[in-house]
Amino acid sequence: MESVPSVAGQQLTDAELAWMKVPKAILAQHSPIPAVVISGRLAHCNRCSADFAVAKQRLPSGAVYCPACITMGRVTDNDRLWRFAAAPAVAKPIKMTWNGALTSAQERVAAELVETYDARSTRLLWAVTGAGKTEMLFRVLERALSDGQRVAIVSPRIDVILELAPRIGAAFASVALAVRYGESGPVPVTQLLLATVHQLLRYHKAFGLIIVDEVDAFPFSSDPMMELAVRNASAGSVIYLTATPGNRLLREVRRGRLAVSYLPRRFHGQPLPVPRVRIMKQPAVVDAKVRAIISRVMKTSAKMLVFVPAVVHLRPVQQALAQMGINSLTVHAGEPARKERVNALRTGKVSVLVTTTILERGVTFYNCGVVVLQADVPIFSTSALVQMAGRAGRSREHPDDPVEFLCTNYTRTIHAAIQQIKMLNRKDLP
Ligand SMILES: [Zn+2]
Repeated sequence: MESVPSVAGQQLTDAELAWMKVPKAILAQHSPIPAVVISGRLAHCNRCSADFAVAKQRLPSGAVYCPACITMGRVTDNDRLWRFAAAPAVAKPIKMTWNGALTSAQERVAAELVETYDARSTRLLWAVTGAGKTEMLFRVLERALSDGQRVAIVSPRIDVILELAPRIGAAFASVALAVRYGESGPVPVTQLLLATVHQLLRYHKAFGLIIVDEVDAFPFSSDPMMELAVRNASAGSVIYLTATPGNRLLREVRRGRLAVSYLPRRFHGQPLPVPRVRIMKQPAVVDAKVRAIISRVMKTSAKMLVFVPAVVHLRPVQQALAQMGINSLTVHAGEPARKERVNALRTGKVSVLVTTTILERGVTFYNCGVVVLQADVPIFSTSALVQMAGRAGRSREHPDDPVEFLCTNYTRTIHAAIQQIKMLNRKDLP
């Protein structure tokens, strides 16, 4: 099968091909496969590899659709899927446009990632928040891109991708890069793709290297389809990155099924700040006690993130801060100006962001203290608490920004988060 430049390495439906205006003449040389195959009471989806029971998935027309990958547009047993061979890799030396230096611990990990790529195998990079994960990727990226391989950097979180894109783009200025997420339609494969994990459903054996950042973030951790999407899109090596691996990944590591690079130190060599747990009656309300804690954090750190469990808490906290003379902005998933607001904290236009868990990971601020209100609500998982705490102490000059967990009950989840941080500080591998 000959590769077709505009669709090479992709797997697309008829609707997507129409959107991309692929000439009929090209399709004549290819044969599609059914998107959904039914056998008896079970069905199999060729796009996402899900197996499901036919019973509940019948449309009024009688067609059976796949429920697992519906966010990328519905496919039924009436739909066809076209798979196009990836373009052959043509080696062309790529010079990285980043000239920073790695610490010796980062060097070790960077070399292990290159070995993983060379062996076309899979590896977990478990590095604490603030370890300098992105910089550790540059060498393996340079290698794969110079080999002429296509590379995908994906994450379950859009914000992680938006944060990474300019840094990767700056480090590889001469490489064609596309950023894809949300409702955007298919596009020709660029050498470097930054995208949400879902977007990989449009590719088939296309990438010589796939890097999955923040692999533990919802919904990757709870959705097996995501892992299949990565596997189907891969034609080589896969590297998973996380600061807070879930039980499933750790089990794979313990059983020897997944190689791991473990980096329990931040790039500046200082331990992670250990949260202080404050048990109080009404942590949702910014009363005198909470104000005193906030004032103390602001004395040590130039910036502060205040995490709240839900959007409804944002305004009251912002108003309470205003009464204290503290200028703040609010951020949540549905906030259209959230990129600008994150920037306002970064550049010092405001000193505080009041935010939902949307900013728990993927963002770096210097000299930033962290306050988590209602740290005991179930929506804050252990890994979410570790990630939120991980926003503090990331600069060499201020490694010990304060982290405060305010709660009514000292829950098992809070306990587990603090144990995990202490364990990382001892450099133990569980
Ligand atoms: Zn599917």
